[in-house]
Amino acid sequence: MQDIKQLITNSKGIVITTHKSPDGDAIGSSLGLYLFLKKINKNVTVIVPDGFPTFLNWMSKVEEIIYFDSNNEKAKDIIQKSDLIFSLDYNSLKRIDEMGDFIAQTNSYKVVIDHHQDPQDFANYYFVDTNCCSTSQLIYEFIDKLGELDKMDKEISECLYCGIMTDTGSFRYPSTTAKTHQIIAEFLKLGADGAKIHQEVYDTYSEKRLRLLGYALTNKMKVFEELNAAYISLSQEELKQFDFKKGDTEGLVNYPLSINGIKFSALITEKEKDISMSFRSKDDCYVNEFANKYFNGGGHIYAAGGKSDLTLEETIQKFEELIKVMG
Ligand code: 5GP
Ligand code: MN
Repeated sequence: MQDIKQLITNSKGIVITTHKSPDGDAIGSSLGLYLFLKKINKNVTVIVPDGFPTFLNWMSKVEEIIYFDSNNEKAKDIIQKSDLIFSLDYNSLKRIDEMGDFIAQTNSYKVVIDHHQDPQDFANYYFVDTNCCSTSQLIYEFIDKLGELDKMDKEISECLYCGIMTDTGSFRYPSTTAKTHQIIAEFLKLGADGAKIHQEVYDTYSEKRLRLLGYALTNKMKVFEELNAAYISLSQEELKQFDFKKGDTEGLVNYPLSINGIKFSALITEKEKDISMSFRSKDDCYVNEFANKYFNGGGHIYAAGGKSDLTLEETIQKFEELIKVMG
């Protein structure tokens, strides 16, 4: 921490990065750290690989985020000129696509703050806890370790609240600890509006998004009761029918787990270039190794993801065969 503290003090340009298709924890932790570093008068920029759902747009200073895909020249210029890069909510440069190659060739010091398994060796410092529920909680612990908790305010709290809320399924997953609740209590004392944040994230669906959920559950969920497994698949054509926007399938993979006896759930989504796999599990069923071994991915024990380069039909077939063989 002494080294990192010194790096922050000495740095003239800090960049905060997070993984592609950023979620609530990715954006919440990035903006939380950003607002803190701004407050101590650092020159800092958040750069994300690509876009994120509009239900995160209420966060303070969200409009200052730079997109590596659509604002490439500017993003590269800022990264090139930086001397310190934070990697938040990811631990492998693979998770940030082309931005990873670009960051790898810079001389900037690199600090990972993350809660995923198996960190890859690309940074100088690692502030990592794989038992921690979220990177947003780690940002609070990081600011605490810097001895700067007096800089916490309502705006920083609301960003971090959102990251903890989304990564814990609103404080219900086993990763939610007494410490998590204590930190949330601190946020509330600072004025964070928990009810507002829940509404912004969970009660701002478009009608089409809610109907997509209904369609997916009624027509596209396949349940294998004897295997304690279920999955939902969605094609590009089906997504287009429901006017799909980024974030519209967020949370969908969790629904099959609410069936009594189902311990393993998957969402198989046809993207423009490949097939995206999302896995969730509970109890004695772990998905991170499955994601890594069969779908070139990874994640946490109860929440992981990956990819497939096969067609949607072939991917579904491969997935069904795997769960049948593995029981
Ligand atoms: P989601 O299903 O919400 O996209 O992702 C669930 C978890 O798995 C997240 O913690 C995410 O970081 C991780 N994850 C998702 N996709 C990938 C992937 O392609 N590779 C790796 N290593 N992790 C992933
Ligand atoms: Mn996270």
